[in-house]
Amino acid sequence: MEAIKCIFCNKSSDDVVIEENGFKGRKCPECGLIFISPRPTQAEIIGIYARNITYARSHRSNDYAGRLTARNNLEIIKRFKENGSLLEIGSGSGYFLDEARKAGYSVCGIELNEYEAESINKTFNIPCDNTPLSNSSFGDKKFDIIYHRDVFSHLYDPISVFATMNSKLNDDGILAFETGILGDADLKYFSYINYFEYPGHLFFLSRASLKKLLARTGFELQELFVYSLIPKLLFRKLTDPIINKLNRRAGANNEATEQPSSSNAAFHDSNSGLFNLLKKTYLFLDFFACYKIGMMVPKDRRPQTCIIIARKCDS
Ligand SMILES: [Zn+2]
Repeated sequence: MEAIKCIFCNKSSDDVVIEENGFKGRKCPECGLIFISPRPTQAEIIGIYARNITYARSHRSNDYAGRLTARNNLEIIKRFKENGSLLEIGSGSGYFLDEARKAGYSVCGIELNEYEAESINKTFNIPCDNTPLSNSSFGDKKFDIIYHRDVFSHLYDPISVFATMNSKLNDDGILAFETGILGDADLKYFSYINYFEYPGHLFFLSRASLKKLLARTGFELQELFVYSLIPKLLFRKLTDPIINKLNRRAGANNEATEQPSSSNAAFHDSNSGLFNLLKKTYLFLDFFACYKIGMMVPKDRRPQTCIIIARKCDS
């Protein structure tokens, strides 16, 4: 464990705004970034993902949800870059890459979980590296688009990883990513969030810290798509007891989904047609609450998820 300061402002903080699993999330008094301190070492963090088959299974059981989100985010990316080469970092089960290929992009992935990386190579026949992004990832190839979703919060050293993304983009390339923005939310809304996924999530951005991150790593914000998380969080609060009941009835006993998570619905897999229809309906409503209703309701001072489009600055 190591104590850290804000990675952008170099300020320490006593303002503890999240406490979970024995970890403390502190808010930077200057930029609003929420960071875990003290935090696990980098080796400990990599160990969480690298050989974790449970993690891989919980991703794979979300085919339908993964594809809904992928198509939603690709629709936005299309507005900025209609075609070209696309690299996804943290490809998980590979559904985004598969959907991006269908949308006409030429795709590559990076996934640290070796089981998932192998499955992307074999099942989808998409090149997928199993090592962290570096300047030599995929040789000296540069990309038109780099995309990631729910990756920023997991990065041990976001500034250096974003700088590497910058150098792996073509001059007119864009960075598109989705991440939770919690640093500007009123703390009263934090009670809606069941699970912050500590210590997996090391950082939650605010608007000011997002600006600092982009400026420090050679990017210029092009557009920000903001969604309030409140509709989705309320939907989950309402449906959690029902899902637990259904899961018990289906007799599922799958450790992969035992832990509630903000990114994976808690539904187990089942062979029952009715159960799977209910699951699909649930996943659709969950998606709809997040991206469709979440776009229309008040967003200021609420926990948000944002899709950020940034372009390389002229250097
Ligand atoms: Zn700061």
